[in-house]
Amino acid sequence: MVAASSAALPSSVIVLGAGMVGTCTALHLQQRGCQVLLIDRRQPGRETSYGNAGLIQRESVEPYPFPRQWRKLWQVLWQSGADVHYHLKALPSLIGPLWGYYRHSGPTLYPQVVQAYSRLIAHCLTEHQALMRGIVTHDLVAPTGYLDGFRTSAAWAAAVQDAQRLADAFGIRHEVLDSVGMAEAEPALRVRLAGGLLWQEPWAVNDPGALVGRYADAFVQRGGTQVQADARQLQPQGAGWQVQTPQGTFEAPAVVLALGPWAAGWTQTLGYRMPLFVKRGYHQHYAAGGRLNRPLLDAESGYVLAPMQRGMRLTTGAEFARVDAPPTPVQVAKAEALAREWLDLRDPLDDPPWLGARPCTADMLPVMGPAPRHPGLWFNFGHAHQGFTLGPVAGRLLAELITGETPCLDPTPYRASRF
Ligand SMILES: Cc1cc2nc3c(=O)[nH]c(=O)nc-3n(C[C@H](O)[C@H](O)[C@H](O)COP(=O)(O)OP(=O)(O)OC[C@H]3O[C@@H](n4cnc5c(N)ncnc54)[C@H](O)[C@@H]3O)c2cc1C
Repeated sequence: MVAASSAALPSSVIVLGAGMVGTCTALHLQQRGCQVLLIDRRQPGRETSYGNAGLIQRESVEPYPFPRQWRKLWQVLWQSGADVHYHLKALPSLIGPLWGYYRHSGPTLYPQVVQAYSRLIAHCLTEHQALMRGIVTHDLVAPTGYLDGFRTSAAWAAAVQDAQRLADAFGIRHEVLDSVGMAEAEPALRVRLAGGLLWQEPWAVNDPGALVGRYADAFVQRGGTQVQADARQLQPQGAGWQVQTPQGTFEAPAVVLALGPWAAGWTQTLGYRMPLFVKRGYHQHYAAGGRLNRPLLDAESGYVLAPMQRGMRLTTGAEFARVDAPPTPVQVAKAEALAREWLDLRDPLDDPPWLGARPCTADMLPVMGPAPRHPGLWFNFGHAHQGFTLGPVAGRLLAELITGETPCLDPTPYRASRF
């Protein structure tokens, strides 16, 4: 087990980035007696942590592997499905990370990845619950579970087998629903599906950004400082770090980089070559004609329909593109056409659709721990498809490492020096 250095523990820490990951890191550092300054150019939880499907995914013990079946690869290559889209222009810069992603999805490395990932996911509900204590969240969070819906019997049968494998290996609880069971679970569905799977443990959040906002409010009420400022430069200063923003310069013995999809540019500037990339995703809300009781994945098409405070939110699959490339919401149009077969969706409410970016690593594991060559600099990013789920456990692990506590789990698989 990697032990954090106990020398010169910082009493004050700057956390850069107030998404789910940064905000939870700030809360956990504060709980351990640190004075924390949380900096974001926007209000907390207004970027990726705002626009996701709002699922706290206890079932998601296996991160999404790179497809290895020829049929699926062909479909991805020709972008014929709704789940994957890519920008040709982005491909040259993606070759390295995607090759790593492909390798780690193979039979030798993937089981190790799953081991390390499932250990994090195992804590997601208890760690969210611990942060929610004392913060009223009943209006935001419900233990509804999460549904996978299937159009074809063959896909449903295969998924049922796979769910049993997850139940045996990881104790993931699920219920198999046939066509009638799906109609009973979700009376608003306008078609009879072949079948479904109800993952019983996940929680659904009906305004993900608001949950981050509640965590950030609690942090401020307990004495933390939150500043809205656009960080322009980060550099060592004496024995600590300095962050320059147009709103002022901030210094502390330690700084945490929790910039989600924007972390890659910062780590590159600091001289780290990590295989980071993003999978962008869109959402669109619809004034609801039909409303689901819980989030539903169209498992053969790769989009999610989630009931939110604003209406039904449709979230798309992966778009491989530069984080700052112009939006190309073709997946929204494809997914919307499919979703309208299932549910009475009225007018779209977002113009244009929201765009966000999942911060990904080639080995599907987040980067959590000390920066290898910069004392006092800490990384907490790369939580990919489950950063909203993993924020609290990621925040706890990093705070434990920074303050020299025994970590709640072995941090070795997530260390930055693995690259
Ligand atoms: C369509 C979609 C659906 C998803 N669904 C789910 C789901 O159901 N469940 C789940 O667990 N995960 C889901 N995810 C993934 C999840 O949303 C992300 O993993 C998570 O939000 C990442 O959190 P973060 O705090 O690392 O990043 P962010 O939330 O992006 O936070 C990074 C912060 O850094 C700030 N920042 C950037 N640059 C600067 C700067 N220069 N100065 C100051 N601040 C700066 C940004 O303003 C931002 O607030 C989904 C993602 C997408 C795109």
